[in-house]
This record gives sequence, C-alpha cells and structure tokens, in this order.
Amino acid sequence: MTDRRAGIPASPGIAVGPAHLVERRPLAVAPRPLAAGAAAVEAEVERLRGAIARGREQIERARDRVRGAGHPAELVRMMEAHLQLLEDDALERAAERAVREERVNAEWAVRRVAESIRAALEASGDEFFRERRGDVLFAAERILRNLAGLQPDPADDLPAGAVVVAHELSPVDMSHLVHAAVAAVVTETGSRTSHTAILARALGLPAVVGVPDLVGCVDERTLVAVDGARGEVVVAPPPAEVSLFRERARRLAELQRTLREEGERPAETRDGRRIALLANIEFPDEVDAALRGGAEGIGLYRTEFLYVGRPRPPSEEEQLRAYEKVVSRMAPRPVVLRTFDLGGDKFASRPQLAGEPNPALGLRALRLGLHERDLFRIQLRAMLRAAAAGDVGVMFPMVCGVGDFRDALDVVGEAREGLRRDGLACPGDVPIGCMIEVPSAVVVADLLARHAAFFSIGTNDLVQYALAIDRGSERVAQFYQPFHPAVLRLVRQAVRAGREAGLPVSMCGAMAEDPLAVPLLVGLEIDRISVSPASVSLAKAVVRSIRFDDARRLAGEALEAGTAEEVGRIFRDYARQTYPDLAREPLD
Ligand code: PEP
Ligand code: MG
Repeated sequence: MTDRRAGIPASPGIAVGPAHLVERRPLAVAPRPLAAGAAAVEAEVERLRGAIARGREQIERARDRVRGAGHPAELVRMMEAHLQLLEDDALERAAERAVREERVNAEWAVRRVAESIRAALEASGDEFFRERRGDVLFAAERILRNLAGLQPDPADDLPAGAVVVAHELSPVDMSHLVHAAVAAVVTETGSRTSHTAILARALGLPAVVGVPDLVGCVDERTLVAVDGARGEVVVAPPPAEVSLFRERARRLAELQRTLREEGERPAETRDGRRIALLANIEFPDEVDAALRGGAEGIGLYRTEFLYVGRPRPPSEEEQLRAYEKVVSRMAPRPVVLRTFDLGGDKFASRPQLAGEPNPALGLRALRLGLHERDLFRIQLRAMLRAAAAGDVGVMFPMVCGVGDFRDALDVVGEAREGLRRDGLACPGDVPIGCMIEVPSAVVVADLLARHAAFFSIGTNDLVQYALAIDRGSERVAQFYQPFHPAVLRLVRQAVRAGREAGLPVSMCGAMAEDPLAVPLLVGLEIDRISVSPASVSLAKAVVRSIRFDDARRLAGEALEAGTAEEVGRIFRDYARQTYPDLAREPLD
C-alpha cells in the first residue's frame, strides 16, 4: 500500500528506485560470566583486541578508498575522526579492564564502556566533546559486530539504482555511497546539517532525512520515490505517480542542461536591473561548484562545519588555510566569512541526544562566541588574516540587537590588537556585517545599521523565529512558510533600514533558492542573492526572465496579502506566465 512521508529536505534531486535497507540498530548484548581460570580471561582479552584491530583496518581501508578516489575531503575528515576513537586506546584499555576485573564477556565490556564514555561526553559542557557521542556508539557497534562475526559494514555492497533506507548512516556507511551508484538516501534520523545531509549534498545525491519510523514500514526492493528538494518520500507509489516522478526527474535533468549555459550570463532583469548572484558554501571544496554554477562571489561561508564532529576546535592556522583557500580561489570576487553558528541545529545529528532542552533558543551562534571568547577571538584572527588574500567581509550569525553586535565588534578589536602585537598582517578595513535572522534584529535594524557595514538576511532562521516553527521538524513543516506576509514585512523592513543607511543588503536564506520567491525578493529590492552552488544558475535564469517593474508591483500586492497561500498564488501565476520551464514544481 502506498505510504507517503514528509521528511527534512537534505539534498535536492528526484529519484525512483527499489529500497535497499541498511540495518543499523544496535546489536542486543547480554552479560556472560567467563569460565574460571586465567586462560579464559586472556582468551577474551585477545578476542577483544582482535575485534578492535579489525575495526581499525576496516575504517582505514574505507578511508583510503575514498581518499584515493579524490572524494570529499570532509568525508575523509569524518572517517579519520571515527578512526581516532579506535586508535586512541582509552576505549580498548577500559574495556580490557572490565573484562579482567569483572570477568565478563568482551561484548558486555565494550557496550558498558562505550555507554559510560557517551554519558561523560554528553554531560560535558564542551560542545566539541558532546558532538562525538555518535562516533563512540558507531565505533562500539563496529567492535560488537566484529566480535559476533557479522558483516561490520551494513552498507557494503549497495546495489546500483537503489534508494538506501536506514535508521542512520555512519561516515563509513556514507563512504560506500561514494562508490556505489545508488539513486537516493532516506534516513529516520538527522537534520539538514547532519553528516548524511552534508555528504549527500557534496555527492549530489538526492536525500531526505528525519523520516521517523520508516525502516519497519519498507520491505527490501519495494519501490520508493524521493524528492530531495521537497523532503518527499513515497513508498510503493502507484504506477501513475511513478511516471510523474520520472517525468519530473527528466524535466530536472533537461533544466540542468539549460542552466549550465545560464550560469555564464549576468543576472539582469529584462528591464535592466542587475542582481548579484553569489553562493553559500559549507566547505572550501564547494568553491569549484560555486564557480561552475556562475557565482559572482561567496555570500555566506558557514564556517561552523570546520568545528563539527571533531575532538578539538580547529587551530588558527588550520582555519586560516581553509579561509585563504576560499578567498584566493574566488579572488577578485568577494567572500563573506560568517563566524561559527554552532549550537541549535548544527549539533543535532541525533536529536534525542541534543544537549539543551531548547537548542534553537540556547547557547548558540554569536552568543556562544561571546561566551567562549577565546575560541571566538581565534576565529576572528584567522578571518582577519585571510582578508589579506582578497575581498573579504566578516559577519556574525544570530545578532539580536546593538548590544551583542557591539560586543562582537569589541572582540574583533581585540583580535586586531593581538595580531598587531604578534606582528601579523591584516587589512585595516575589513567590513563587518550583521546577519538579520532574529526578529528583534529587524525591529532595531535602523540602529544596527549605524554599526554594521552590511546586512545579510537569513530567512531560514527568520521564518523559524518569526512564526515560532522549528525549522528542522517534519511535524510542523507545513507551517514553515517563507511566503507568510509577516516574513515579507520583516524582510522589507530590514531592506529599508539598510538602504536608508546606505548599506548593501543581501539575502542568504534558502528562500532565495525557490524559483517562485526570486521575483518577490527582487521586488522587495534585494539586489544581492546568495544561494547553494547548485541553485545559482537557476536563480540567474529566473532573474533574466522577469521584469523589475513587475516584481515590484507584485511584491507590493504580496505585502497586502493575508496569507502565505495568497502570496504563493501571486507568484505561481507570474511564474506560469513568465518562466514556466524554470519552476521546480507543476504550476497548475
Ligand atoms: C539562515 O538562517 O537563513 C541562514 C542563512 O543561516 P543558517 O541556515 O546557516 O542558519
Ligand atoms: Mg541562520
């Protein structure tokens, strides 16, 4: 029977294929006392050591295959973080001690030790340690599977054309995706920023995450249709729907061919309004995709991904290398480096382990930076130093008002002063901008404009906080409405405040990736748009199809509309008349 699910859109693309289930539930483990005598203990310790050593070899092999194939540097880094856990002998020593002192089986010792490490990490106030909890559990499962003589990598041997369905995938599982020609990935856990989502995007693989209780409802080889941009999963679709999905996939492929040519051209409306189209990136390696798409700069570099999933924060030098790579590769085009937006959804790869009761409202982004001032200062030093390599702006995420913005500027001043003392060069005029993504920042945007060099509107969070809708929750996804008139009015207010102060105002939220929203944003007088590398050429093509005077008139109507549905209708009608081939969805 057909089963329709909505999940979190993690990586765009459309696919239909037979399900391939990757079983990743923890193995059941029970305590078993060892036989009397020293020999039984020694034999058990040998079993344990052998299983751990095999685990190390398995990960090393998987990592070398990925590295040899030149695949995402990020994946190699995640696998190394994973490997480190088995190389670092804390787990091995603790498990061995449990076997010897308690005379229990290796399985029980591993499970217990992993649990206590996980609990200690969980309780740690340090976000970097907290993020490693999942890695510990993956490492323990690998050892347990080796002890049981089971295939340690359930994702080995993925059939070509399959839709991979899993509770969750480890970085090693993901490395198998690199080699297999699978069609799409769907997981029960995860967020837009979990490992699976990040890597699926890097691999260009359609993915939907956060689809609860799916694994038990799908049989191996059942047909599954996936739309990664909409977060749609249909299990056992009727034949008519399969044809519809295939038709959409075909249209998408055709569109991508047209767009490759569009990327080369400037984004200018038919009546001559020039819009700058930039790209949002998460890893330095994405710069090439941004340039291929025709990006005129990087409007948002989400630097927090340098920090996620590793035992210690990156050093100043490591950060400098990453930023310089982006800046020099893009030069002379501009690059906006955003200071880390850690916390919130950026750690919640396993929501049940989230460290704060309400992480979206917790110690995150700029407030985490001001709380962990040393960490923040190190990042700012690296950013200021990288500015010597090209055209760099720095901005802060989740600014709430003038107070926190000014505090952040003080830390920039400290970073500058420190660099001067250390005899390290940095340009004196790096523009420092403010993200507008919290409603309070919109309300005081005129005041912020006195201190900031530019504004960048982040609708992903602005929608979340304005409408009180969790941006990562599939249960309220239908209420997450970027076209809500309240959101439009907030955007207009921010644009006006910036304009009146003579500030450049850009938009870097995913709203700008929706072809229907482009004329709305242009009509609201945004003239710098930053989207994911894959969406740059589409946004350019839309801009080239529309007229600025139409966009302004329609934006005026939208600001008077009562609901998101009415706004949607206005722009759907316009798209139907003006650029029917560029819409991602059927327009009738
Ligand atoms: C936003 O909130 O719109 C934004 C661009 O930032 P992020 O998605 O990284 O929170
Ligand atoms: Mg944000």
